Amino acid sequence: MRYISTNGSTPSVSFREAVLLGQAPDKGLFVPEGIPVFPDVFFRELPNLSWAEIAFRVARPYTENDLPDDTLWSIITDALNFNIPLIHLHDQCHILELFHGPTLAFKDVGARFMARCLAYFTAKQGEKITILVATSGDTGSAVANGFLGVEGVDVVILYPKGKVSELQEKQFTTLGENITAVEIDGTFDDCQRIVKSAFADDYLCSRINISSANSINIARLLPQSFYYFYAWAQLGNPEVKPVISVPSGNFGNLTSGLMAKKMGLPVAGFVAATNINKVVPEYLETGVYTPRPSIQTIANAMDVGDPSNLARIRHMYDNNIHEIRRDVTGCSFEEQEIRNTIRKVYLNTGYMLDPHSAIGYLGLITKQKDEDTPGIFLATAHPAKFNDVVAEETGELPDIPKRLAKCMNREKQTIRMGNDYGELKDFLLQTKKEM
Ligand SMILES: *Cc1c(COP(=O)(O)O)cnc(C)c1O
Repeated sequence: MRYISTNGSTPSVSFREAVLLGQAPDKGLFVPEGIPVFPDVFFRELPNLSWAEIAFRVARPYTENDLPDDTLWSIITDALNFNIPLIHLHDQCHILELFHGPTLAFKDVGARFMARCLAYFTAKQGEKITILVATSGDTGSAVANGFLGVEGVDVVILYPKGKVSELQEKQFTTLGENITAVEIDGTFDDCQRIVKSAFADDYLCSRINISSANSINIARLLPQSFYYFYAWAQLGNPEVKPVISVPSGNFGNLTSGLMAKKMGLPVAGFVAATNINKVVPEYLETGVYTPRPSIQTIANAMDVGDPSNLARIRHMYDNNIHEIRRDVTGCSFEEQEIRNTIRKVYLNTGYMLDPHSAIGYLGLITKQKDEDTPGIFLATAHPAKFNDVVAEETGELPDIPKRLAKCMNREKQTIRMGNDYGELKDFLLQTKKEM
């Protein structure tokens, strides 16, 4: 498989090059040149395969020229070593629990897979690489954990000061080793802008080898498509085409789902569910895209005002809004609706939703008109990651898994910076000198 840029001015590259570059030189995002469509027999076999086998079969056409089969298999079994169960909640409503990885959020899937691909490719080159990543909360911990202790890789994480939960912050500021956390006096959009400036800075890029771990890296996106197949397999009925609701921020997760559908996965349609940062639902409704500064909400990993992956979605559908609308409907939810949902679902079923997953649930029940069509919503974080909101609404504190509780007692270590790019540039060049 070759990869091309959404901006169309970069010659096609291999999987290895796309992973190492992160962003395309013409500032576009890499997308597969063509999406393979799996034959019917593949879908008939799916329910009999394990999670790792499904992942391997879906991945293979995308990586086969760059990852030998045994390498791909060990990357998958090592990175995706946790289950992704489909849980029946009520009626035709199912939950795909994506939060059983080490940092309890779905980003573990993409971050762990990417870290291992990158480590494999850089080890082959014998070079050192710096991963630059902006986070609104969950990416930071998933990426940091994915790369912790990985030889030849340094990670620099930018996050908005005071805008992530204490637990989220502790997860990526207490690790040490090859992980550096930078606290930016600004918003997530500032962090993302600073990271983009670094990639656009030819001088910096000529001095240090930088790559991205945000959802713009193709190796983050690809593995996220695996679990859509696994979810469908777990429904256990080859005749069904579920509706799938995806709580969305930067729209990487939804992009992966749309890729799965293009690969032939039987899906009736997707719901793009957001918090009040609703630029994409608005775009789907009006056909006009108006990015805006993000607004802080209780579902902070979805506080994105200019989602990067929309460029990929538009590219996949030849920029045809009518075609996009055929597969995706949008909806957005306010703070109080999210809170009410956490409370009501707990009262009625005993199931604890985190604020992001609650948006997924709301998206599904709002748009799932036909009672016979099975629905799946993606639960993207464990309720313990947002325990204050969850406790306020349910009256109970979610159990904090042991691996999370440990980092709460460690000291946070960060570097503070203002919200302009110059400070980061100086820091990166300085660290380079010290190496
Ligand atoms: C990142 C994140 C999202 C949004 O995912 P995108 O791929 O950016 O749309 C949703 N929920 C949680 C918990 C997240 O961490």
